[in-house]
Amino acid sequence: MNPLFADMPTTIFEAMSGAARDLGAVNLGQGFPDFGWPEDVIARAAEALTRGSNQYPPMRGLPELREAVAAHYARHQGLAIDPSQVIVTSGATEALASSLLALIAPGDEVVLIQPLYDAYLPLVLRAGGVPRLVRLTPPDWRITEEVLAGAFTARTKLVLFNNPHNPTARLFDPDELALLAAAAARSDAVILSDEVWEHLFFDRPGFPSIAGLPDMAERVVKIGSAGKIFSMTGWKVGWIVAPPPMAEPIAKAHQFVTFTTPPNLQAGAAYGLGKPQAYFEEMRAGFAAARDAMREKLEAAGYAVLASEGTYFLCVDLTASGIALDDATFCRRAVAEAGVAAIPLSAFYAEAPVTNVVRLCFAKKAETIDAGIAALSRARALFAAA
Ligand code: PMP
Repeated sequence: MNPLFADMPTTIFEAMSGAARDLGAVNLGQGFPDFGWPEDVIARAAEALTRGSNQYPPMRGLPELREAVAAHYARHQGLAIDPSQVIVTSGATEALASSLLALIAPGDEVVLIQPLYDAYLPLVLRAGGVPRLVRLTPPDWRITEEVLAGAFTARTKLVLFNNPHNPTARLFDPDELALLAAAAARSDAVILSDEVWEHLFFDRPGFPSIAGLPDMAERVVKIGSAGKIFSMTGWKVGWIVAPPPMAEPIAKAHQFVTFTTPPNLQAGAAYGLGKPQAYFEEMRAGFAAARDAMREKLEAAGYAVLASEGTYFLCVDLTASGIALDDATFCRRAVAEAGVAAIPLSAFYAEAPVTNVVRLCFAKKAETIDAGIAALSRARALFAAA
């Protein structure tokens, strides 16, 4: 048995959602929307399910989805991608696993930015990578020269990047992207850029993919997910866009991880990616309104809220909210005593955790948000220092 997995706790998302279910608490923890989904995308997938093929699709994905991914990124992010560079995967999680298996050899150094999405470190370790951890801190969570200092060496082969960033809700600025791109170029490292939240950005005209920076097209492997774009997290249809020399080995890894992804869901995703610009703008406006409503109500309840520039999340600073509990204790007690599930940021650090910030999900119906805020008000009344 591999001790990495034998001794590993269940992910914090599953643990908090399980506690919310068992205790009947409002779940503002795990990042899944509790409202509907685009009916036309479902209808296209349903039609493909009943009228199309239910046999193995091509290993790299349906041609219609690979073409739709390339066209989508040309239209929305100005990227020039050939469909041959696209590999369809079973969610972004499989995209990460297949990319890391293909691009990392045992002993290669991998730069990881904390707080980090919880799948990253175990996948890097299982691929034999040697993690080099960079640490971001609140309230700004900025990537700077100082933060990156020492992380990149001559042995750096890959940097695992996430933008917009879960859990901090940061959308990194062009100067931060340029810093990271320059550091990767100096070490001749690949940037594996997890951009699953690419359509969830607020208060800015567009999402700048790091793949669009000068000379980065040959260095960046970009990951996307239909689950996030269409608010259907259970779908697990993702994709990788890789420079041609890397697409080949990544496809070889993918063929022995999942081999393929349900063809009917691929057809639905292909249709959805072609939806008009207005669809994506309205979706963003809806999420931005939910974010603003949650922020306002949290502040009225006495919470100090950090900026949210993207994703489904916003973070609360417990110390600045007058709560002296550490984040894990707060979350454990809030779900049991006040009836609301949140996610402690310390769960996203492998070392030297930040322990006074919790993450809340605003991708919820107004009544869920209201019930969650009422419970968070009870939590503050219970836990805030007098
Ligand atoms: N990467 C990040 C940063 C995420 O937030 C998530 C989902 N929460 C994933 C990957 C996983 O995506 P998928 O469900 O498509 O596997």
